[in-house]
Amino acid sequence: MHEVSMIKKILELTLRQIEEHHAESASVIRISMAVSDHLNDSGAQSLFSSLAAHTAAKHAQLAIHWNPAVYRCVACGEQISSLAFVPYMDCPVCGKMAMPGPQTHEWSLDEIVLEGGAE
Ligand SMILES: [Zn+2]
Repeated sequence: MHEVSMIKKILELTLRQIEEHHAESASVIRISMAVSDHLNDSGAQSLFSSLAAHTAAKHAQLAIHWNPAVYRCVACGEQISSLAFVPYMDCPVCGKMAMPGPQTHEWSLDEIVLEGGAE
C-alpha cells in the first residue's frame, strides 16, 4: 500500500533527524500531502504510531497540511481543485467527468520538531 511506504519513509527521515541532532525524540512532524481516499488525520496518526512503536519517534504527533486534489476534465481539460477526495467529479464547465490528476499522491516533509538532546 502506498500510504504505508509513505509513513515508513517519514518515520525513517524522522529517526535520522533525531540521530543527527542527538535528540531524544520528536514531538511534532509537519507534513503536506494531497487529500486522498486512503488516508485522513487519524488514519495517518494511527499508522505512524504503530510503525513508530519501540522507536524514538513513538510519541511524535503528525501535523498534516492537506493540499487539494486536482481534477481534470476528460472532455474539455478544465481543472478543478477539491479538499474532499472523490473518485471523480462533474466538470463545472461542460458537465462531463473530471478525473483526479497525477499529483494526488505527492507529499512533503516540512518540519520535524525535536526534543531533548545535549546541544
Ligand atoms: Zn469539462
